[in-house]
Amino acid sequence: MKTIIEPFKIKSVEPIYFNTPIERKRILKNAFYNPFLIHSDDVLIDLLTDSGTSAMSSNQWAGIMQGDESYAGSPSFFRFEKVVQALTGMPIVIPTHQGRAAEKILFSILGGKGKYFLSNTLFDTTRANIEFSGAEGIDLLCAAGKLPSVPAPFKGNLDTDALKKCIAEKGASNIPLVIITVTNNSGGGQPVSMQNIKDVRAICTEHQIPLFIDACRFAENSYFVKLREEGYADIAVAEIAHELFSYADGCTMSAKKDAFANIGGFLAMHNEKLAMQCRNLLVITEGFPTYGGLAGRDLEAIAIGLQEVVEEPYLHYRIRSIEYLTNKLIEAGVPVMQPAGGHAVYVDANAFLSHIPVDQYPGQALVGAFYEHGGIRSVEIGSLMFGKYAQDGTLIPAQMELVRLAIPRRVYTQSHIDYVSEVIIEVYNKRHEIGGLKIIEEAPLLRHFTAKLAPIN
Ligand SMILES: *Cc1c(COP(=O)(O)O)cnc(C)c1O
Repeated sequence: MKTIIEPFKIKSVEPIYFNTPIERKRILKNAFYNPFLIHSDDVLIDLLTDSGTSAMSSNQWAGIMQGDESYAGSPSFFRFEKVVQALTGMPIVIPTHQGRAAEKILFSILGGKGKYFLSNTLFDTTRANIEFSGAEGIDLLCAAGKLPSVPAPFKGNLDTDALKKCIAEKGASNIPLVIITVTNNSGGGQPVSMQNIKDVRAICTEHQIPLFIDACRFAENSYFVKLREEGYADIAVAEIAHELFSYADGCTMSAKKDAFANIGGFLAMHNEKLAMQCRNLLVITEGFPTYGGLAGRDLEAIAIGLQEVVEEPYLHYRIRSIEYLTNKLIEAGVPVMQPAGGHAVYVDANAFLSHIPVDQYPGQALVGAFYEHGGIRSVEIGSLMFGKYAQDGTLIPAQMELVRLAIPRRVYTQSHIDYVSEVIIEVYNKRHEIGGLKIIEEAPLLRHFTAKLAPIN
């Protein structure tokens, strides 16, 4: 087999500024050991997120020039609407400025005290919007998804037995929605099988609970279905995606992921009554329903991106490039989530830094080490992001302590990725020199974005 090459060539480049470990040690200290507080000019390889960081295609840039900026009824909106309708089969399409704006609208309407939203794993902004409404979010991830080192084909699946039990316990009338996140971002970018979605659909139908898809990475998930699920090998990814959406009553989407856009999102659904309530809120918080917080040019970029992302040479390269980095790390003995996910490599920080207790945030400590050693920016997905405090002030840790290295779409080449693997392996070989951290300042919600930390020693 020959090397799988990037299915694009580069027309426009951006410089990377180089700095030294000594400079980065100071930068990290000044940023209070929080990667979100580091200036991106000071980062060599930025794997903080795959959100809004994609390289747009020449077609998307051409679309940007064709954006029509009319306040109402822009042709750019109708092109966008048509693409989303064709993809999802959902007739109602409501643009928002990003994914969390769609969530905010949906959960403001459906949430509130005494309500429960069930999911495989709620993403952090989704959970925050649910909790902000007064409702509670419950993650029901399958057992395989909680074991980082044990490979399985669909570790993003929702545990259907736990779902039935939870519905019986909380009462169907208190559950406004079940939400399946594809792929499961907080759980390692692991895919959900079509069978699991069908099974969840059947349970939802039985209890008359609507099913929504958090669709941010629908194309990556659909490609995994093609690769791993029986009966899908010869079906086009666009068709697989269409089937996936056909089981849902609606979806929320961040176009900053699988739409190659730098900003944008949408809500899509079948229910006209719910849509009317959503649009009423949209006008107050986002804008008129034919632009919803976006410029006409953004709608064009999203529409084109949604068509490009289901192209199979792209997905082949995309999924392979994540697997390539994952496998290099596995070969060197670095503990990572297996198998490779769709958009990121997840390092198991508990295993990597087994000498650091969870209440000293091993994931965050590792994020600092990758930055200081190699200028690589990553993010903790563990107890800094999801930890809670017990009544006595002790930490209730997250399910896993992971460090996510998210790979921006179409941005880095194979040599960038080779460099990343070299840095991580070098850090692994001197892991015993890394110490824990403590929080010195934090916000009540989404604290990882702004928290300030300091070394324990
Ligand atoms: C990014 C993301 C969101 C939120 O989207 P934004 O555009 O960042 O607001 C919601 N769910 C998942 C799974 C995501 O990855």
